[in-house]
Amino acid sequence: MKKQEQYVDNWIREQTGLGSALTAENLRAWQQERVREAEIYAAEHAAFYRDRKEALLSPEPGQHFFITAEDIRRRPEDFLCVSPKEIARIITIPTSGSTGRPKRIFFTEEDLMVTADFFTPGMAYMTEPGQLVTVFMEGEQVYSIGGLLRIALERREISTRVHGFVHDLKEAEQAAQGADCLVGVPGQMALLAKAAPKLRPKTVLLSGDYVPQSVVRRLESIWECEVFQHWGMTETGYGGGVECGAHCGYHLRDADLMIEIIHPETGESVPNGTWGEVVFSAFARKGMPLLHYRTGDIGRFCPDACGCGGVLPRLDKVMGRIENTIFLHNGDAISIHQLDEVLFALDGVHDYAAKLKQNPEATLSLTIEGDADPDMITEFIHKKWSGLEIRVNSGIVERKRKRSIVREK
Ligand SMILES: [Zn+2]
Repeated sequence: MKKQEQYVDNWIREQTGLGSALTAENLRAWQQERVREAEIYAAEHAAFYRDRKEALLSPEPGQHFFITAEDIRRRPEDFLCVSPKEIARIITIPTSGSTGRPKRIFFTEEDLMVTADFFTPGMAYMTEPGQLVTVFMEGEQVYSIGGLLRIALERREISTRVHGFVHDLKEAEQAAQGADCLVGVPGQMALLAKAAPKLRPKTVLLSGDYVPQSVVRRLESIWECEVFQHWGMTETGYGGGVECGAHCGYHLRDADLMIEIIHPETGESVPNGTWGEVVFSAFARKGMPLLHYRTGDIGRFCPDACGCGGVLPRLDKVMGRIENTIFLHNGDAISIHQLDEVLFALDGVHDYAAKLKQNPEATLSLTIEGDADPDMITEFIHKKWSGLEIRVNSGIVERKRKRSIVREK
């Protein structure tokens, strides 16, 4: 649809005051100044940063200051820069493990309105004034995702119906009836498409840390719609980045967040195009500024220019979590999610198991259940990972609840 529009870039031009001087370099310099100001502010107001003032404000050469999810879990209130009565919303994120403490993230009203300010241009790629959007994400309160989308969309005269997560498919179908755009998590939207194939949203926005391409294709073919993806998490203040109509990586919320990609072991920034860990600094946040926060997400900046003509680096589709990813010596990385995308796209692959050995060249051994041609499998994998040595054999695969690539010594 509106492939040439640069809603997020234009918003950044305005927010940063860089105007027509906006380039990747000028933006990064502007962000570094904002992060510096936020570091000084945080070191003055929050116990966590005050206790690590030296490391934060004047690190030794080669040293890098980072905060982790574990730091937040341990003492979330130590990150607070305002008095608790100024906090408008606290989000508790449960831990996947059984023993770990949940993560708590605090926001002031101003912090949340800054998120709505990003949603306005972000949603412009997939909506038009006069339309209706149904949101299948949490939205009871004003400052929830649904509530903030409502505020953001009202500014462009778009109506919002906040349904909340899908529990009952019939109710969800009714809520989606007549909507021009649906916003939801991938699994639930895939389920709704199967249950209500006659719906005809023009666009769907999927949010969630990993969006399988198989879900995108299913929605496009059943609903005949255009699917957009969003990247973000509670820690970024929900919003993080969104695809434009060229569907070539996330245009980032650069006026509020500085995003970097680091090598997970050395902490050094990696060159553009190299995979690493996504780190962000939420320098615009007043309540609980997270600075140099390691997300545990695997990402990279897209090496190619975007079809919309935007000049800023975009985050490529996030590949999943560090703990499930193997970094190859040639700068590539591989995960079970990515292998799923490649292999399950082949009709002849019913199931498979994967092992990877690095010493130092990487060899991937696959056991394929089904009747796919081994040469075709090798060819498909080489398209994505040209440096891998591939061995394919056929056989019955053990069913595992949690699948992963087995690392061989
Ligand atoms: Zn673009």
